[in-house]
Amino acid sequence: MTRIAKLYCPYCGKPLERREGDGRSRLYCGEERRFIYENPIPAATAIVTDESGKMLLILRSREPGRGRWALPGGFIEMGESPADAARRELEEECGVRASDPSLVDIIFQESAYYGASILIIGYSFAGYEGRPRPGDDAADLAFFDPSLLPDMAFEAHGRMIKRYLERREELRRLWTEEF
Ligand SMILES: [Zn+2]
Repeated sequence: MTRIAKLYCPYCGKPLERREGDGRSRLYCGEERRFIYENPIPAATAIVTDESGKMLLILRSREPGRGRWALPGGFIEMGESPADAARRELEEECGVRASDPSLVDIIFQESAYYGASILIIGYSFAGYEGRPRPGDDAADLAFFDPSLLPDMAFEAHGRMIKRYLERREELRRLWTEEF
């Protein structure tokens, strides 16, 4: 991963350098003589379907992926569970409250935009309340037949949807067993 911007130590504020550690190039704080470890950034996405099995997608109003479609979702806040993050993003972007999350999969993606590896944790929800309306990062929203998806903003979301379709029956069984 190439980084152009100069990076500073999050602990002491001094400029960081690159140094070899455990066989890879790592960030190093010369002031404190320690490596600063970089880790993937976790994000959460939500899959919600209507009665006919169509999937709720948002038209992104911001970069990355502006003007293209995506699953509702975003980065997980400190102290927030991945499922709660998916539910919060769904509420912020689509105005609906979802219940009964099931983990679909965890998808890995290298993001050139963020200059980082992203772990996308996907949840499907058994149901939702409220009338969907676009908010926050969403310019518009619509329900799509999963076999006729529009131009997607993120390749990883396509993989998440594929995993959901493979596991759909199994996830439904999980929901019905809980009640
Ligand atoms: Zn430092």
